[in-house]
Amino acid sequence: MTELRAELELLLKKDLEAAENEEIYAALMTLVQQRLAEAPRIEGPRKLYYVSAEFLLGKLLSNNLINLGLFDAVRDVLQEAGKDLTAIEELEPEPSLGNGGLGRLAACYLDSAATLGLPADGVGLLYHFGLFRQSFENLKQSESPDEWLSQQQWLRKAGLSFPVTFPQGTVEAVLYELDVPGYGGQVSRLRLFDLETVDETLVGDGIDFDKTAIDKNLTLFLYPDDSDRDGRLLRVYQQYFMVSAAAQLILQDLTQAGHALTDLPKYAVIQINDTHPSMIIPELIRLMVEQGVAFDDAVAAVEQTCAYTNHTILAEALEKWPLDYLEEAVPALVPVIRELDERVKQRCVDEDVAIIDEDDLVHMARMDIHYGFSVNGVAALHTEILRTSELKAFARLYPNKFTNKTNGITFRRWLMHCNPELAGFVTSLIGEGWKRDANELEKLLAFRDDPQVLQQLLDLKQGKKDALAEYLKENAGVEIPADSVFDVQIKRLHEYKRQQMNALYIIWKYFEIKAGRLPKRPLTLIFGAKAAPAYVIAKDIIHLILCLQEIVNNDPEVSPYMQVLMVENYNVSWAERLIPACDISEQISLASKEASGTGNMKFMLNGAVTLGTLDGANVEISQLVGEENIALFGERSEKVMEMYAEESYSPGDFYPDDPEIERLLDFLISPKMMRLGDPENLGRLYRDMTRKDWFMALLDVKTYIAAKEKLLDEYEDRLAWARRMLVNIAKAGFFSSDRAVAQYNEEIWRL
Ligand SMILES: *Cc1c(COP(=O)(O)O)cnc(C)c1O
Repeated sequence: MTELRAELELLLKKDLEAAENEEIYAALMTLVQQRLAEAPRIEGPRKLYYVSAEFLLGKLLSNNLINLGLFDAVRDVLQEAGKDLTAIEELEPEPSLGNGGLGRLAACYLDSAATLGLPADGVGLLYHFGLFRQSFENLKQSESPDEWLSQQQWLRKAGLSFPVTFPQGTVEAVLYELDVPGYGGQVSRLRLFDLETVDETLVGDGIDFDKTAIDKNLTLFLYPDDSDRDGRLLRVYQQYFMVSAAAQLILQDLTQAGHALTDLPKYAVIQINDTHPSMIIPELIRLMVEQGVAFDDAVAAVEQTCAYTNHTILAEALEKWPLDYLEEAVPALVPVIRELDERVKQRCVDEDVAIIDEDDLVHMARMDIHYGFSVNGVAALHTEILRTSELKAFARLYPNKFTNKTNGITFRRWLMHCNPELAGFVTSLIGEGWKRDANELEKLLAFRDDPQVLQQLLDLKQGKKDALAEYLKENAGVEIPADSVFDVQIKRLHEYKRQQMNALYIIWKYFEIKAGRLPKRPLTLIFGAKAAPAYVIAKDIIHLILCLQEIVNNDPEVSPYMQVLMVENYNVSWAERLIPACDISEQISLASKEASGTGNMKFMLNGAVTLGTLDGANVEISQLVGEENIALFGERSEKVMEMYAEESYSPGDFYPDDPEIERLLDFLISPKMMRLGDPENLGRLYRDMTRKDWFMALLDVKTYIAAKEKLLDEYEDRLAWARRMLVNIAKAGFFSSDRAVAQYNEEIWRL
């Protein structure tokens, strides 16, 4: 301990007591980086390149300290000097390199690969302004650049760069690296490319910038607005920039180790995380041919190297680029893609599997499936839907390529770091083993009837709720009653995730309270969500929730019994605060639409009870914990898929004929709402929900309200509730990303 203190003071050049938090943060970062530099590199004959447009890392300091085994010692040394590690960590900006679940998954997998000693590099882009920073103005989302890159950097320049050629000229992709330690301190690397000539001053009002200045804009933002042609072209330019640099890096790693290009599959496996990196397939082939490899040999090598993860069955999210976009942005790839398509067409006549379809759209996922050796879905139900419905033609062609890899989360970040109190309690009951083998959490089941243990679980939850309430008071200026039930829905805003259905519950409850039917205990509904800047209805839903927040919280009859809070700029740091404090985890997507979800796993691990549909990994959660320990409602996926196929769903079946539902929707355009909010947004949302309702909120809203009311009733039996918490924690082991990554390795990567 004194050694650690001496080391820190050497870096600080002063006494710990005399140092400012900023200085201590900088010193701790340097200390961690030194340890990481000394950490054992993971070596192996075959290496994984996990190529992804997103890595949603979260803050790095505490997690790195935990994985290096330094956390407790550092916290104690600081405490002795009157310093607080939590306050110091507040100074760290959260890296803005991702957007949602798939980016967070990539970050968890780097942690787990390092923990399991698997040689793995993440490869992606270094976005200067991330997705965007969200704030609320006039009860609406407003976007600004997320300026997270500061002087103090975890990133270091690798001293490597690669040229990437576009019709407009050649730009340089400069490589940065960041160490990602696993538990025990072995290190994976995240390798991020930046545009050498990127120009931050291009950004004007909000997040607007010249989308055509690709020599300056390629690494400004993640997922730039694609509502016009220039925006969509920019996405193609950006994707190509990423994969061309990645492909050059991978081939350079190979040849520098003295191997032939055609031996690529012996030494590398490339996991294509969703379709954003799909162009790496034709790019690798193009580069190999350029270096003298025969086309057939290049195809054979690439085919055995690339594996594809599908993250969605939403048709609008499966990327299809018009061929003329590719001709304009990446003409060098077009002959390769045409040839790959020709070969497919010679083998199969089925139009559903063509890479280039009749309308000259290039289907990126189809290219991945034909020219990769593996395709995986991310939860049992999702993979089943891919096999039997969405990708049926492909599953028939390549039955052996398809496997399931149910998503996972790293328990280091999502329990040990965000809820050390619960992690400590678990350890006191069952020992340390669960940190390495998450299945050991099942040992907790031995305490399911121990009233003392159950009471302690409740006390720990209350502690986290108190801490959240305190944090919100200090940092967001809002007071929420810590003795209320905390009901939390935090995830990207999307109609299929159905935040709008939760909003209808709020309206229902508002009427109930107004009518004097008061709940036994107050309820706090917490939301966090960013909407894609061009996603109009999603932004309307945010507006609705913010209007409801205003109305509910300012109504003296209602506010003692219900509070609504939407946090600004939902990100990993918010998730780490909200999840440990949650009682009810809202996982209410329309069945068949959520591929897996990982938020659901984080909540379960922290002792929340899921209120959810049988969708994504909720299905597996319910099988693990048993139906008595989860609150399920809603139409099942088979039925929903049938309704889509038959086009038999219409919100007209419920509105205006069902008076209960009519009342809820009419509130959207009631004078009270219209006076407070923007009639354009509210009117548009009202029309959408009553005439289209593409994700069937009205189909499930009544069973949803009933299920939530029942769950709130059950909450009052505190010991029974604590038993449900305990079972959820005990059964969460399956959702460790260590398990998921081990499965990827056994069945796909074979590192
Ligand atoms: C886990 C996580 C997600 C994914 O949440 P889902 O509920 O699975 O959609 C999104 N954003 C952040 C910040 C997360 O930590």
